[in-house]
Amino acid sequence: MSGLVTRFAPSPTGRLHLGHAYAAIRAHDVAREAGGRFLLRIEDIDGTRSRESHVAGIFEDLAWLGLTWDGPVLRQSTRGAAYEDALDRLRAMGLLYPCFCTRADIAGSASAPHHGPDGLVYPGTCRRRSAGEVAGLIAAGAPHAWRLAMDAAVARVGPLVWTDRIAGEQRADPAAFGDVVLARKDALASYHLAVTIDDAAQGVTDVVRGVDLLRATDVQRLLQALLGLPTPVYRHHPLLIGADGARLAKRNGAPALADLREAGEDGSALAAALRAGRLPIGAREE
Ligand code: GLU
Repeated sequence: MSGLVTRFAPSPTGRLHLGHAYAAIRAHDVAREAGGRFLLRIEDIDGTRSRESHVAGIFEDLAWLGLTWDGPVLRQSTRGAAYEDALDRLRAMGLLYPCFCTRADIAGSASAPHHGPDGLVYPGTCRRRSAGEVAGLIAAGAPHAWRLAMDAAVARVGPLVWTDRIAGEQRADPAAFGDVVLARKDALASYHLAVTIDDAAQGVTDVVRGVDLLRATDVQRLLQALLGLPTPVYRHHPLLIGADGARLAKRNGAPALADLREAGEDGSALAAALRAGRLPIGAREE
């Protein structure tokens, strides 16, 4: 058995479709081919959008595809203390500040809106508030998120690189994302923080996931450096594309795996077809 560890980390906010099956198979097979371990993590950090019925559906879909995972399933909803601990450490480094802005504030305040890899870059409004103003807002119970002071964070750790086995060596450019949210108003932590902490906690050595998350790795690499966590190697694989040229999703007709299962399709045969590059009509790899 090798020490290689991969994971599949779906968010239970909807039913899995073909694109998820493809991602799960890739992560599973990288581990199995190396004699390593394949883990499952349920990214149910968003309490308002996650559903238990979707968690149950994930287990059923993976079993139907013939995929087995090793060890216990990690659920992000149980990980609040670990995320808080990381936030405390970043706060102690002086790298976090509370942000009271609403989405509408942010959209309206940017005189020259600046777009990063993840949409609008936060213009830094709350970073410029005085300590007195912040204390007053917090004392008044104003809801707030916590943002990373990106320039200070980047200056603290210096240039960073990471390895993608498909795309090659990458120079991290987390600054392109601006001051990302690490603790949300309505959730335990943001995606970036939770994924970084949990990949380290689960001992993931190889992150196998879709290429849509390639640039997000720059932020995760920065958090690893700040928190003294190991850096896995990455394999960002192509996404399945629907007949309309857009990423496969429910809205462009990607069938839910549950529908295929209920229609009597053979999940192992579907998995074999995906492995062999025989994609269902209309879908292609890009
Ligand atoms: N939970 C994320 C998603 O479903 C994936 C996270 C990751 O693989 O880093 O899109």
